[in-house]
Formats: sequence, structure tokens, C-alpha cells
Amino acid sequence: MSNPVALITGASVGIGEQFARQLSERGHDVVLVARDTARLEALAKEIEGRSGASAEVLAADLTDDLQLATVEARVRTVDLLVNNAGFGTFGAFHTLDIETEIREIDLNVTALVRLTRAAAGAMVERGSGGILNVSSLAGFQPGPSNAVYSATKAFVTSFTEAVHEELKGTGVSVTALCPGFTHTEFQVRANAPASSVPGFLWQEAPEVARAGLDGVAKNRSIVIPGAVNKVMGNLSAVTPHAITRRVGAAVLKRANH
Ligand code: NAP
Repeated sequence: MSNPVALITGASVGIGEQFARQLSERGHDVVLVARDTARLEALAKEIEGRSGASAEVLAADLTDDLQLATVEARVRTVDLLVNNAGFGTFGAFHTLDIETEIREIDLNVTALVRLTRAAAGAMVERGSGGILNVSSLAGFQPGPSNAVYSATKAFVTSFTEAVHEELKGTGVSVTALCPGFTHTEFQVRANAPASSVPGFLWQEAPEVARAGLDGVAKNRSIVIPGAVNKVMGNLSAVTPHAITRRVGAAVLKRANH
């Protein structure tokens, strides 16, 4: 019998690379999606050498309509979709480059919604499958200096929870993974002042990826990895935005001074 197939977006580095490694160790063949072909090919070679699973490289910029359509076609045939690719931007919204902000929405929201639709349609017809959408604790409250990023992740969590509910009883699992600060290339790419974030708030990519994969295997609606993040997420969920947005702004102001 052939292995189940998992497609992971943003697999070239960070949490996505860990999803790919761990899924191959859990007996999946993997399809690796990101823009950096050289990184994906190196990872595919390593995975095939180590695990015996097959690893396919599907290089694509998910903010490009044509390239996204190629990936949409591919996800119709997979058993597990991990919508992990995403990026953030940091700074006062009125100072940020609007084209980059729109690309952030294209990747974090539009690509994720299109791929979820393509995968879910096929999975429901087959009566089995899983979709893991990577959101963030940043989506639990408005994010001053992260306005668009936090809003994209609020969308991802809400959207994923709703589809989770819709697909109950179909055999298709749908889960949102909401990490907190995780050591990857994310903060550097976002130009975010991460050095002032205390050490106890950080997690490593392997533990975050493991929590997500365990969560979708159990069809959890939301997974918050790590005890500290769970406390913060639950606090944010019950605290009015009028408070959380002010606290967020004050913390970021201090971090910048
Ligand atoms: P990362 O190390 O920067 O990795 C991001 C991945 O997304 C890379 O593989 C990148 O590959 C890919 N990507 C970026 N733009 C793309 C595009 N246009 N088309 C296709 N792929 C693209 O960040 P990460 O921390 O692993 O982030 C993974 C997910 O976790 C994101 O959704 C992020 O929002 C979420 N998250 C991260 C943190 C954190 O603190 N790290 C916290 C909460 C949530 P290429 O550059 O090769 O395309």
C-alpha cells in the first residue's frame, strides 16, 4: 500500500521544514512548497535519504495567481494539507509599504483559503483527510505595530474554526495551530524587534510542529503549543480588546526604546 501524502506550504525553513521532516518520519510522502527551490531540493534529498519517504518539490510563490493554481490542483489529491506559509510586517501601518501589506494578505489569507477549499472539496468526497492551518497567538487580539499580520491571523483562526465545525462527521479533520514566539526566520523577515522578548516566551520549531500534527490527528479545532502560550491565549480570549490592544501597544513601545 502506498504512503499517505502530505503537502506543506512554507516547507523550506522554520516550522514548515519541521512539519515536513516529522511527517516523513510518521510515514507520509511529502510535497514541499515554497519559493526557494534550492532549499526545498536539499531538504527533499535529506528526507528521502533518511526516512525512505518520497519528497516532491513544488516550487511556487503562493501570491502569484498562476503558481497558486498549480498548487491548488496538487492539493486535490493529497491526504493532509498543511497551510503553513506566512509572513509578518512590523511598524506603524501608515508607514508600511502598501504592496507588501497586500502581499501579506494574499499569502496569509487568500492562498490559505483557496488551498483549503481545493483540499476540503476533494477530501469530503473521499470521506477522509486533514487540513492544518497555521495561525498565531497574534490573532487573539488587535496588534498595534502588527496590524495587518494580527488581522490575517484572526481571520485564519476564525475561518478554520468555522470549517472545522462544518466538516464534523465527514471524516475530514480541520485544525488551527496558534503558536507564540518561535525561533525561525520569521522575526528577521518581519523586521521585528525580537531581542527584547524574554526567553521563557520562546519555543523551538520542532515542538510547535509536533503539537500541530498531534492536534490535527485528533481533529482538535485549535491547538496552542506550550504551557505559557496556553495561559496567554486563554487570557487574551477572555479579556476585552480595549485592554489587550493597549497592553500590546505599551509592550511594543517599551521594546522599541
Ligand atoms: P519562516 O521561518 O520565515 O518561514 C516562512 C516560510 O514561508 C518559508 O518556508 C518561506 O519560504 C515561505 N514563504 C514565504 N513567502 C512565501 C510565498 N510568497 N510563497 C510561498 N511560500 C512562502 O517563518 P515560520 O516562523 O516558520 O512561519 C511559519 C508560519 O508560522 C507562518 O504562517 C507564521 O505566520 C506562523 N507563526 C510564526 C511564529 C514565529 O514566532 N515564528 C509565531 C506564530 C505563528 P520561501 O522564502 O522559500 O518562499
